[in-house]
Amino acid sequence: MKREFNNVIMIPYAPSLQKIKIKNFKKYQIAFRYSNTIKNSLSQFRTGTDKGGVYCIPCNDCNKKYFGETGRDLKKRIYEHKGDIRRGNEKSSIFNHVSEGHKVDFDSTQFIFRSNSYVNRRIVESILIKKSPNFNISEGQYQIGEFPLEVISHRLLSHIKIPESNK
Ligand SMILES: [Zn+2]
Repeated sequence: MKREFNNVIMIPYAPSLQKIKIKNFKKYQIAFRYSNTIKNSLSQFRTGTDKGGVYCIPCNDCNKKYFGETGRDLKKRIYEHKGDIRRGNEKSSIFNHVSEGHKVDFDSTQFIFRSNSYVNRRIVESILIKKSPNFNISEGQYQIGEFPLEVISHRLLSHIKIPESNK
């Protein structure tokens, strides 16, 4: 298939670009170069060498998940989540879900996206919260509109396998 490169604008990707209104560019197609952000992050995800990442906690009692990110050891983060439940931290998404009578599956919790970049982890977390059933209280740091993160999210989700609980 021949690709048409007339009227294509190439822009390096930056999260702030989501503020651009697409109606200004109707005559043009816009292609983003993700060279320093998501593209690198996806290759890191495949090799899995990064320490930090975005993780998923499934629920035993429904199909919703919790998506979180950390630059540290996942076991430490899980320990903190368990502490929120013990202490009844009302700001905790997990405590709130458990309060509804559901049991979360910490044993099936795993990294689903690896990255040492805080920004990339936050972007991926925001995409997952927008695109996958979840019980996160926060809507994520980034507003995932139609453009341009919509483009990234398709590519990203094809790389990510979201775990199910082992009930
Ligand atoms: Zn549930």
